[in-house]
Amino acid sequence: MLNDTYRHKGLRKQLAKLLKEKGIENAEVLKAIETVPRHLFLNSSFIERAYEDIAFPIGAGQTISRPHTVAFQTELLELKRGEKVLEIGTGSGYQTSILLEMGAKVFTIERQKELFDITKTFLPTIGYSTKFFYGDGYKGIPVFAPYDKIIITAGAPTIPDALLGQLKIGGRLVIPVGDKVQIMTLIEKIGAKQFEKTEYGEFKFVPLLEDKAGK
Ligand code: SAH
Repeated sequence: MLNDTYRHKGLRKQLAKLLKEKGIENAEVLKAIETVPRHLFLNSSFIERAYEDIAFPIGAGQTISRPHTVAFQTELLELKRGEKVLEIGTGSGYQTSILLEMGAKVFTIERQKELFDITKTFLPTIGYSTKFFYGDGYKGIPVFAPYDKIIITAGAPTIPDALLGQLKIGGRLVIPVGDKVQIMTLIEKIGAKQFEKTEYGEFKFVPLLEDKAGK
């Protein structure tokens, strides 16, 4: 793979080990962290620190989430190969690549045109091809619904109704809910209109913004 080296591979192994120590248990998730070359998703000024467990700016005022956050959200999805996943907030495409690496069919939406364009072009060059959409994630993508899993990678003031509607019965939706600080929240859909909610710890995300595609 382009500009991937044994040193980078070694750093990824260490990162996976660190995430395991921080409580990530799912072996498939850790394997994906070991495989996806996070340094290629970063601006060259941060490349040396790509395998530290920190967030970095990716342009348009947005950030690539910390590896621990990516792993935590992915673990909560309980993903199986071949499942259909809707992702809100493509950003750098790192989380998208983790999902693809785990065998998911991913539909991903981004509302910042600049990031949408860059990531849609970049991801296939490192072997991750999928369906990219430019638009407002609050609305989901009804034409491809229902989804087995839905992941929102920006902090949402509330859980968007449209997304609950596009989740399969038996499906799982993972969303950080809150304003300044977010509570990682898992929603399990147990009936057409029945949901079960479980809350996990506090996380910090850039906001999920409404109805402003392109601005
Ligand atoms: N998963 C990304 C994290 C990006 S940060 C990564 O691994 O890099 C969150 C992203 O959500 C930002 O790119 C932001 O522009 C996007 N976003 C915010 N509100 C959105 C909305 N309503 N619809 C789609 N994307 C949105």
